[in-house]
Amino acid sequence: MQQYLDAIKADATGTEIANLPLPDHYRAAHVLRDEMGMFEGVDSWDKDPRKSIHVGDVPTPELAPDEVYVALMASSINFNTVWTSIFEPLPTFGFLERLGRESIWGQRHNLPYHIIGSDGSGVVVRVGSAVRNWKPGDRVVLHCNYVDDQDPSSHNDSMKGANQRIWGFETNFGGLADLTIAKANQLMPKPTHLSWEEAAVNALCASTSYRMLVSNNAASMKMGDNVLIWGATGGLGGYATQLVLNGGGTPIGVVSSPEKAELLNEMGCEAVIDRRGEDFQFWKNEHEQDEGEWRRFGKRIRDLVGEDPDIVFEHPGRQTMGASVFAAKRGGVIVTCAATSGYMIEYDNRHLWMKLKQIVSSHFANYGEAWQMNRLIDRGAIQPILSAVHPLTDVGEAALQVHHNKHEGKLGVLCLSDAEGQGITDQEKREKIGEDKITMFRRHADSLL
Ligand code: NAP
Repeated sequence: MQQYLDAIKADATGTEIANLPLPDHYRAAHVLRDEMGMFEGVDSWDKDPRKSIHVGDVPTPELAPDEVYVALMASSINFNTVWTSIFEPLPTFGFLERLGRESIWGQRHNLPYHIIGSDGSGVVVRVGSAVRNWKPGDRVVLHCNYVDDQDPSSHNDSMKGANQRIWGFETNFGGLADLTIAKANQLMPKPTHLSWEEAAVNALCASTSYRMLVSNNAASMKMGDNVLIWGATGGLGGYATQLVLNGGGTPIGVVSSPEKAELLNEMGCEAVIDRRGEDFQFWKNEHEQDEGEWRRFGKRIRDLVGEDPDIVFEHPGRQTMGASVFAAKRGGVIVTCAATSGYMIEYDNRHLWMKLKQIVSSHFANYGEAWQMNRLIDRGAIQPILSAVHPLTDVGEAALQVHHNKHEGKLGVLCLSDAEGQGITDQEKREKIGEDKITMFRRHADSLL
């Protein structure tokens, strides 16, 4: 892979890149089927991704006609990296087996190892015979919607495809590696003003937040809306906060430390709740919620913005859903895409139906939605929320930080790229958008060290 790195750094032409020999193996972060029982009897919190994630050489898979090989310069840690590495709620090998039964190309994925990672930035090095819109040398970012375009259910909205999958979670050959195979319809142009690692952290979380808030497929936010955002400086929340501010709404950001509250203020979010500092405890014990706490929370939001939220941006799940349903305004929408703290949810249905609220589900984004979000990033309207960068060999450590909520924004990972700050091709645009804006999460995290 060194030849690819040298060629990319030397701005080699597409033809030169296409003529380089493809290696028969490459470096990748992966978990092992043999080890999927390794954490049996261990408490979720104590399951340690450093034990289950390995970084080592794997054979290069064959390319299907609708796919491309991408030399990956950078990638990122997502919460699904954590789920795969702790084998919760299910080991991901079952997904690979199912994909393996679908077609001859699907069979490639059913292996004793699972290469993880659902984000990436890099350079196309080879294209399959059916690929029309991309060529070797193209600088790209990858989104993780893996779609079977021959299935009628994939059309209208590919997220509703019967066999829709998430690349690097429900498929093999993910992004935490020096090379990947991806479907051509996962590619988007790399924002020219960003470094490889800044470009690599956005697609999964930013596109998910876009669909949840902006798209007509979920909350359809409009100018003036108040939006309650849980984890407002986290992976999803850091983009949601920007979308609300840019869309003329008022974010009410919930975080868990004064440092995160300060970061939110710097982003322009004035209404902030420090859930730890203000000691919100929505559950009295494992079985019983505290309606008094819901009321205190609702009152706190009204004190901050004078109204109840039109939209609640939900993902913590069990710990917060009762409060989210209570706090939404009459006729408001609770949009949910996850359940980090537990997926068996409880809320008081009277607050839902008597006040005509809706719970709307959302999951990643279709190609159109991911493309629109990438366009906003490329225009400098939405900034990457990269807060720290790890080498590929450190993926286990980085995943542990996300698992234990010790991070802000997104953690980037250098794959082939041998130093930070490379890959920027439009410095003038970067200066126009502003270094301070682009690196806000990074500067903030550095100042805490
Ligand atoms: P993240 O970077 O860890 O951020 C989540 C934030 O939520 C945390 O930083 C934390 O912020 C807050 N939080 C966590 N547990 C909480 C609790 N019990 N009560 C209140 N707040 C809590 O993770 P992420 O990337 O944003 O992902 C969040 C969830 O969404 C994960 O479960 C992930 O798997 C899921 N997800 C789903 C999709 C999809 O397409 N369906 C896409 C992306 C992510 P504070 O501590 O500051 O409050």
